[in-house]
Amino acid sequence: MGAEYVNQSAGCRLCTIAREAQGESADGLADETHDHINSAVCEGMATTVTAAHRSIWSCLYDSMHAAQEPKSKLKFVTLDKESNMSTLWQREEFLRICSKEELAEKAQDIEVTILVKKSQETRYNLNPGSFFVKHFWGRRPDGDAINEALKIVYILEVRWSTDKDEGFLEVKDAEANENHKSIISALEVVASEWAF
Ligand SMILES: [Zn+2]
Repeated sequence: MGAEYVNQSAGCRLCTIAREAQGESADGLADETHDHINSAVCEGMATTVTAAHRSIWSCLYDSMHAAQEPKSKLKFVTLDKESNMSTLWQREEFLRICSKEELAEKAQDIEVTILVKKSQETRYNLNPGSFFVKHFWGRRPDGDAINEALKIVYILEVRWSTDKDEGFLEVKDAEANENHKSIISALEVVASEWAF
């Protein structure tokens, strides 16, 4: 289905519109195939696809929450756009796992082992000392659930099978793994009696 063209001649029209809106040149446009315009790789579709993912995830999350047994000790933490590790660790149930200071210390050890992205180099150079800690507290898991009785925390991460373009999928996977690696490894060291 990859080579099934919608408009073969002029390149993707949605990308063209998106670039014109940004005042960018229309050089090197992707072909307007069905696969292309249905993916986040299409510059004209990226915002829509991302918004659709968010909205599907939030429905899914709400229904998992709603499907819980009344007696279940599992507590879903509803995350909005502003939620990150920092706001999570303002909640009592998470502070009972370990203090912010303990977690920050271990998180820094792990964050320094992760390569600084090109887009973040400026911030890193500004203050290398606090960069890694800030970076860690800014990490956003897609969702969290906590069971205090069993001492288990679930850090949820969404994978989209519709992100079919291989290059794109690899980027997404790397990001998801990095988020997971940092959050979970730090927690495992600080709160060894808990499972993540
Ligand atoms: Zn496009």
